[in-house]
Formats: sequence, C-alpha cells, structure tokens
Amino acid sequence: MNSRGKCLALALSAATLLYGCGGGEEVVVDSPPLVDYSKRKALVIGVDGVQYEKLQEAIAAGQAPNLARFQLAKTYGGGIVGSVTEQATSSGASWTTVLTGAWVNRHKVASNDDKLRSQADSVFKLIKDADPKRRSASIVSWNTINNNFARDINLRYISHAEKCSEDDQCVADKTSGLLRFGNFDFVFAHFDDVDNVGHAVGFTPAYQAAIQETDTRIGQLLVALERRRQEHPDEDWLIMVTPDHGRSLPGGFGHGGQTLSEKTTFIAINKEANAQLSSPFKDPADMAFDGLYGNATQADIVPTVLAHLGVKPDAASYRIDGVPLLGQPSVRQLSAKADSEARSITLQWRISGQPSGKPLTIYRGGKQIAQLDDAATFYLDQDLEIRDGIAELNYSVVLGQVPAGYLARINVDKSVQGNP
Ligand SMILES: [Zn+2]
Repeated sequence: MNSRGKCLALALSAATLLYGCGGGEEVVVDSPPLVDYSKRKALVIGVDGVQYEKLQEAIAAGQAPNLARFQLAKTYGGGIVGSVTEQATSSGASWTTVLTGAWVNRHKVASNDDKLRSQADSVFKLIKDADPKRRSASIVSWNTINNNFARDINLRYISHAEKCSEDDQCVADKTSGLLRFGNFDFVFAHFDDVDNVGHAVGFTPAYQAAIQETDTRIGQLLVALERRRQEHPDEDWLIMVTPDHGRSLPGGFGHGGQTLSEKTTFIAINKEANAQLSSPFKDPADMAFDGLYGNATQADIVPTVLAHLGVKPDAASYRIDGVPLLGQPSVRQLSAKADSEARSITLQWRISGQPSGKPLTIYRGGKQIAQLDDAATFYLDQDLEIRDGIAELNYSVVLGQVPAGYLARINVDKSVQGNP
C-alpha cells in the first residue's frame, strides 16, 4: 500500500479525520482526531534574498543537497499589486508576512525601519494563545526581524530570542543547539549571507557559493533534528524553508520593487503539501507577472504551521490572509473588490477540484453574513452601513472548517479620489 492509501485506511479505521495526508482525501469528521498535537513541532528556516531560479541551478549542480531533499514550489511575495495587500519586496515587510500570515494592510511593517512593530498577530502569539505551555524561539541574522517582533519577545510569546548580527554561523550553531537539546514547539531561524552577497556582487559564482554554504548550514540544523529524533522518536517535525523576496534583473543586486523576479519566492517543505502548493492555478483572475498569482504565497507559511500544530484561531474573526498548505484546503485566491458608489464589496475565491456540497460560511467583523456551499465562487456584500470616509472590513470565508481571511478597504468619502 502506498503512503496515501495507508494514511486514508488509518483515517477510515478510526472514523475520524487525519490532517497531513495530502490533498484530496476527505473523511467524515465524527470523533476527535487521534493526533497528539503536543508531539507536532515546526521549524521555519528563512534564507534571505535567495532567488528561486538560482536555487534550482544550485540543486541541479549538486550544490544544495539538503534543500534537494524537500518538495520545492514557486510562491510569491509583495502582495497583489494595485490591491490593499501590495507591499515592498523588502526584508521588513516580507519577513513580517512570513511570521504573521498577513500582508502589510494588517501588519503595517511597510519598510525596513527597525522601529516598526508588527500590528498583526504573529505565529508566536497564536501558538502561545492556543496553549501557554508551548514555546517558540526566533534566531535571526538580521536583527531587525526580532526588533519588529519586540512585543512578542517582551510578552514571552517568543520564549527564546537571539540576534546574531549578520553572523550566519551563529544562527546555525545556536539553532542546532536549541533543536538538539531544547524544548520548543516552533523555531524560526534566519540566514542573511546570500542576500548580502547578492547586494555586493549580484548573480555571480560567489552568489551560488553563498547558496551552497547556506545549504550546508541548513544541513547542520537537519543533523541536529536527526539526533534529537533518537531521543524523541514520537515527535513530528514540519520543516519549511523560504526566502523573503527575489532579486531584480538582470544583475540580481537589488530588490524591493514589483517585478516578476523580485516577487518570485519559494517554499521548500518536508511534507506532502495540498493543492494550494502542488497545483497552482494556471488562470488566476489577475494574470499579471505571467500568472504568478496562481501560486501559493509567503502568507501561507503561518497557517501551515498552525495546521500542523493543531492551532485553530477563531474562524469567525480570522485575521490571517494565507491558507494552509497541509491537510484540508480552504478557499483559495480570496480577494475583494469595493464599489464606493454602491457601498458594496464583492468577495471572490476559487476552490480545489469540483464542488461537493461542502458548507461555506462567510463572516464579516466576526458575525456570520452568509451560509453558502462550495459551488459558490463569489459573494456580494451590499447595503454596507458605513460612515463616510475609509472603512476596513474583516472578512473570513470558511470552507468546511478551514478559514481564509481578507481585510477589505472601501473609500466612501466623495471628497477623496480613488479607491484602492
Ligand atoms: Zn536585501
């Protein structure tokens, strides 16, 4: 029996639902899952400024043997241009999205300013809120990341924080020690050398060598986890590797703008991902950047960690933009269009595969406003009672039990032109 078949058989015999069996299977939910979520752990490794295509070159050349062991898929950063989610392909905005699952209209870290503080709930907080016994660590080469999450450190959502001040070997050594001997449920480790080399010399052999060296350091973390496994064989570690942004063409020196190359990111994952990662849409509603928006995004990392750890934030007031890459899929490609004249907002989304009559519930501001099923692909929210000016409305679209969020913006102030 192949692994998918085995997984399905297990789920059927327990008359329950098992997450992490890949996309597609759906089993009646009756009794609680047999999964012991306290054994579920997650490691997210940030590789600053690594270009997807250059990583593929390194893998093909045998220079990234550790990353070659993962499922690798193209994703994007920088939000959707021209919408409320558009953000710079810079490190501050991007890492904040990686660690909150939210775009800049929620997290407000629009630049690399060290003094900015994320305004969106972090993965660290969401894990702690769900179970105060759970512990997270954040070890960063670029110190600004931990400064953007200083409140999480002060409030102990991050139990262990390290600033390695551009010393990637420090990150590898500290993180491998924590993985080997520590007691953490979620660990974030950030490497910065590839981005620094990119800024200095662009796409050169030195850039490829930096990717190779970073892959070696990732190998150090994987060895630490292997050794840990000998004493904790019952733990189940999810590992994802992702950059914050791509680089500008042709030289690869810079980033920050909205070009296909700068927006292109990737997720490498050690588990079988669902359709959101493995089956991108070829025909997204917005075909900009050669259809890049049909792919998963860097906002999907947090909901994937939460799904693996069994953390379920309140679906009605869900404030995460990404969707999980493991287990049951949510609606995908959720977006909103505001009509100022009509004072209405149209939500639209896609689902994976064919409709099956699964319930689809829509909430605005924590209150249910519609009960549909998965054949629906849009919803017109009209007669909005909003005062003149700019209003933000938080929507949650829940498919089965899996939510997706969108913070829509509508400008009904006639004196202000334009409605982003
Ligand atoms: Zn940079």
